[in-house]
Amino acid sequence: MNLIQHYVGGELITGSSNRRGKVFNPAIGEQKSEVILANKSDLDKTVTIAKKAFESWSIKPALQRARVMFKFKELIEKNSEELTELIVSEHGKVYEDAKGSLIRGLEVVEFACGIPQVLKGEFSENVGTNVDSWSMRQPLGVVAGITPFNFPAMVPMWMFPIAIACGNTFILKPSEKDPSCSIKLAELLKQAGLPDGVFNVVNGDKEVVDAILENKDIRAVSFVGSTSIAKYIYENAAKNEKRVQALGGAKNHLVVMPDCDIDGAVNGLMGAAYGSAGERCMAQSVAVAVGDIGDELVSRISKKVETLKVGPGMDKNSEMGPLVTKEHLEKVKGYVDLGVKEGANLVVDGRNIKLQGYENGFFIGGCLFDNVKKDMRIYKEEIFGPVLSVVRAKTFEEATKLINEHEYGNGVSIYTRDGDAGRTFASKIQVGMVGINVPIPVPMAFHSFGGWKRSLFGDSAMHGVEGVRFYTKLKTITSRWPSGIRSNPEFVMPTMK
Ligand code: NAD
Repeated sequence: MNLIQHYVGGELITGSSNRRGKVFNPAIGEQKSEVILANKSDLDKTVTIAKKAFESWSIKPALQRARVMFKFKELIEKNSEELTELIVSEHGKVYEDAKGSLIRGLEVVEFACGIPQVLKGEFSENVGTNVDSWSMRQPLGVVAGITPFNFPAMVPMWMFPIAIACGNTFILKPSEKDPSCSIKLAELLKQAGLPDGVFNVVNGDKEVVDAILENKDIRAVSFVGSTSIAKYIYENAAKNEKRVQALGGAKNHLVVMPDCDIDGAVNGLMGAAYGSAGERCMAQSVAVAVGDIGDELVSRISKKVETLKVGPGMDKNSEMGPLVTKEHLEKVKGYVDLGVKEGANLVVDGRNIKLQGYENGFFIGGCLFDNVKKDMRIYKEEIFGPVLSVVRAKTFEEATKLINEHEYGNGVSIYTRDGDAGRTFASKIQVGMVGINVPIPVPMAFHSFGGWKRSLFGDSAMHGVEGVRFYTKLKTITSRWPSGIRSNPEFVMPTMK
C-alpha cells in the first residue's frame, strides 16, 4: 500500500504517529493509499524547523523570493499533467476541471512573482519640519494553512505562494482525503530553489489541527472548509492570539430574470451546479426563477441533467465524476431523500445510477428539485453534491430578500438583460462575490476571494492585496535627522510643526 508521508525541512518524513487515514480512488471505490496522521509532537517539531528557516528567508530581498516563484511557476507548467492526474485520482473530478483548478492556483503563483511591487510601502516627506514618515510591511513568521478536500491544489495555492513570497515560512495541513498533490507541490518548490523548511506539509486530522491552533510560534492561520469547523478555527486561533481568516461553507443562488438570455442561464447553471459534482464552494446550488420563467427553466435544465455524462474523471467523455468518499455519497443521497420527504418536486433523480465497470465507484447522477421552499432543509443547508434546487420568486425584490436572509453569503449570480436590475443587485446583495451574467464569479488572483456572513470568519479574504495584508504586518516609521543642536525634551503630546 502506498504510504503518504509528511514533507518537512525539505524531505519526506514519517514522524512519530502510528495513526493512519485511508485515501481512496473514488472512481473505483478502492483504497489507493494510506496517509500518516500526524500528532502534536510532529507538528511542534515542524514549527521549530519552520521558525529557524524564517530567520534567513524573511531577510532575503523580495526580488530573490519572487525569483523562486518564477521558477516554481515553470515547474508547475512542466508537471501539470502529473499534478492533474493526482487530483483526479484522489478527488474524482473530471480531468479538464482538475486542470482548470490547477491553473487557477498557478495564477496566484504568477501574482506572487510580482511581490516586490505589492510590498512597497508609503512615504511622506516632511510630515513635520524635517520629519519624514514611511510605512513598510513585514512578514509575520511561521504561518499555517488548513485546507479542504475539494480543491487539493488550488486552495493551498490561494495561500502559500503569497505567504512565502512575503517572507513567511509555511506549514500546510491539507485534507486527509486527497493529500498527494501537496507533497508534489512541496517537491517542486524545493526544485525551484526554495530553502528547506520554508514550506512544509504535515498530514493529519483534528489532532494536528488542534496542535496548530495551540502552538504559540504559529502567528497566523488560514483555513478553508465547512462552516462549523471554520468557526471553531476562528474562535480558537483568536483565543491563542493568532491572526486568522477562516472561509466556510456556502449556498449560492443564481437568479434567473424573465428577460434574460435563457440559453446562457441554462448553460451557466449546468456548469455551476453540476461541475465538479457540486463539490465546489462556489457551486450554484439554488436557481431562483423570477416571474413566469420557472416552467421553461425547469424543462430546459431537466433535459440536460438527464443526459449528463457521468463517469470516471480520467475518461475524456465524462462531464461529471464521482463524489469524494462513500460517506459523502451517502450524505448527498440522504439530502435527496430528505427533499422528497419535505415535499419538493424531484424532477430528475440521479440516486440509482450504475456505471458498468465502476459499480463500486462513489457515483451519483445529477438531481433536480423544483418548488423548493425557503424553510426546507435542502434549501437552508449546504449539500455539496450535484443537486440543484429551483425556488420560485414572484419578483426581483422577493429574490434578493431571499438571498439576503440566507445564513451564507459566498457567491451569487444574476442573469438579466436589464442594466438597472444588474446594478441594483450588485449594490444591494449581501454576498461577497457577485456575478452578472457570469455563472461562477470567482475573482482572479489579483483580486481577492472571500464570502460574507457565515461563509467567512475574520477580516481578510484570500489572495490578491488582501492576502498580502493578511500575511504581513504594518510598521510605520517617523524619523528626524537633526542637524546641529539636538531638540529639547517635549512634555506635551507632540504635534507636527
Ligand atoms: P472540512 O471542514 O470537513 O475539512 C476542512 C479541513 O478541516 C480539513 O483539512 C480537515 O482535516 C479539517 N477538519 C475536519 N474536521 C475537523 C475538526 N473537527 N477539527 C479540526 N479540523 C478539522 O471540509 P471539507 O469537507 O474538506 O470541504 C468541504 C467544505 O469546504 C464545504 O463546506 C465547502 O463549502 C468548503 N469550502 C469553502 C471554500 C470557500 O472559499 N469558502 C472553498 C472550498 C471549500
